[in-house]
Amino acid sequence: MRIDILTLFPGILTGPIEESLLKKARDKGLLDIRIINIRDFTVDKHKTADDNPYGGGAGMVLKPEPVFKAVESVGIDKDTKVILLSPAGNRLSQKKAKELAKEKHLVLICGHYEGIDERVKEELVTEEISIGDYVLTGGELPALVLIDAVARFVPGVVKEKESVEKDSFNDKGLLDYPCYTRPEEFRGKKVPEVLLSGNHKKIEHWRKTEALRRTLQRRPDLIDAAKLDKEEQQILKEISEQ
Ligand code: SAM
Repeated sequence: MRIDILTLFPGILTGPIEESLLKKARDKGLLDIRIINIRDFTVDKHKTADDNPYGGGAGMVLKPEPVFKAVESVGIDKDTKVILLSPAGNRLSQKKAKELAKEKHLVLICGHYEGIDERVKEELVTEEISIGDYVLTGGELPALVLIDAVARFVPGVVKEKESVEKDSFNDKGLLDYPCYTRPEEFRGKKVPEVLLSGNHKKIEHWRKTEALRRTLQRRPDLIDAAKLDKEEQQILKEISEQ
């Protein structure tokens, strides 16, 4: 999968793509991530990429010309998804990340200042995506969030496929169960007995119970859409009555 990130601030992106999971995915040739500086496509000697908004008002607007040229420079075709990171976009979700992981080529446009000339959205962008209802200074952090979420679904990026399937929001649409590792006791707090029992059936039952309990307490909105088996439906009934 190839991902081109168009930005005015490449430095924000370089660290995160050179560490941990994204670095490994790039080293293995599973992800080809390229950073394109929009400023390289400006034409004046000051490399101006922004201008005042028509109609007046606060803030500057990212000009259309350098963005069009930057997008054209990466070579897009009808299958390329050109995504603008924007607070006004569709909310990024686990489902969306999974869908995007099937694409061959993503172009991510990072806005800045007050925003980006509307003609970029009209002519180039196939989808606007938001990472949440808050406003950040630029689209670089949202682009990194999107790439990280998408990368986890690209086959081979996460070594154990099961670990992605079991993550929160996947699989059944519940939050994940609590997990523990050594030591067995830490500052007076013990690992739940059942996890040390070696009884896989009991462990599975405990994990289902705790995932359901946590989801019910923290995100009851997820419960209605969750895909529960018979055992989980029974557990839910019991914990709801407690
Ligand atoms: N005036 C814009 C508005 O209210 O929608 C906010 C512009 S923001 C300061 C600058 C850029 O940051 C946006 O163009 C977008 O690329 C990015 N951005 C900010 N918050 C975002 C979010 N929640 N999700 C995705 N991108 C965001």
